[in-house]
This record gives sequence, C-alpha cells and structure tokens, in this order.
Amino acid sequence: MTRTGLYPGSFDPIHNGHLDIIGRAVKLVDKLVIGVAVDTGKSALFTLEERMEIAREETAHLKDQAEIVVHGYAGLTINAARSLGAQFLVRGLRAFSDFEHEFQLTSMNQQLDRDIETVFLMADPHHQAVASRLVKEIVSMGGDITPFVPEGVKRRLMAKAGQR
Ligand code: ADP
Repeated sequence: MTRTGLYPGSFDPIHNGHLDIIGRAVKLVDKLVIGVAVDTGKSALFTLEERMEIAREETAHLKDQAEIVVHGYAGLTINAARSLGAQFLVRGLRAFSDFEHEFQLTSMNQQLDRDIETVFLMADPHHQAVASRLVKEIVSMGGDITPFVPEGVKRRLMAKAGQR
C-alpha cells in the first residue's frame, strides 16, 4: 500500500516553515501531495499557477525521499484527500494559537471521513514563526526576508514588490 499524505495550504508563497514541515513529512509517507488551495480566503499575491510552480521548484531536491506531487484544488480539503487516495492530512503547528483552529478543523474532518488521519508536525523553532502574510508585509516595506524564504522565492517576492 502506498502511504499518501496531503499537505494542504495556500502557499502564497511557500516559505521555510512549510519546507521544514515538508522535509519531515517525506520521512513518513511514500507520496506527498502538496495541495495548493485555489481559494485562499484572502486575496493571493501569487496566482495559483505561480504558487504551484514555486512549490515544485522548492521541493524538487526532495524527490529521492518520496514522490512529491503539487496539486491545485478547490473545495473541501477532505474531499481532495479522498479523491487523491490520501490516508493522511499533514498539518504544521506553529504556535499555541494554531491549536484551537486545528482542533476544530480536525474534529470536523474526522466526522467527514473516519478513514483519513490528520498528522501534526512541528517545525524547527527557527522556522516556527514564519508566516506568508508576514513575509509579504516585510518585503513590501523593504525589509530583508533572507531568513524566511529560499533564494528563488525571495527573488520572486522582491520582483512582485518592485525591488531588484
Ligand atoms: P501561511 O499561514 O504561512 O500562509 P498556509 O496557510 O499556507 O501558511 O499553511 C499551510 C500549512 O502549513 C498549515 O498547516 C500551517 O499551519 C502550516 N504552517 C505554516 N507556516 C508554518 C510554520 N512556520 N511552521 C510550521 N507550520 C507552518
């Protein structure tokens, strides 16, 4: 049986916190699907295609650890997991503040599909505070985002912000 995990998010754009979680998740599954949500619930800086392309570029080096597939999806995450044949949903926990939201989401997902387990992973403390929203805010104000994103993502963010 292929152990398949779905790691869902908006990935607008992918950052070092996400990549830390992905690096851990590939040790647990044979196939990891990075599910890039069409609907981010907020206006995205990058298009779906850009978010997917960035995710592909930044995870290419992990392909000898597990099969990695980047997949765009709309609608309920649990439905995406089911149609992809994923047995696991992978979520990253940052701070205590994530807990309540994740607790609710997981409880409801358990009722929507009892066969899909949610697995929580914690990033290295260095990466725990990174959030796409803050990275975008910092770059828009001319701050240095080097510690938070890989070089390729930094270049794309700076280009969007009109910086060289
Ligand atoms: P962001 O909040 O940075 O926009 P997403 O909404 O794309 O991220 O989150 C996708 C998943 O990644 C969620 O499970 C979220 O908790 C997790 N995640 C995001 N940032 C981090 C981080 N710095 N450390 C660990 N997990 C994270």
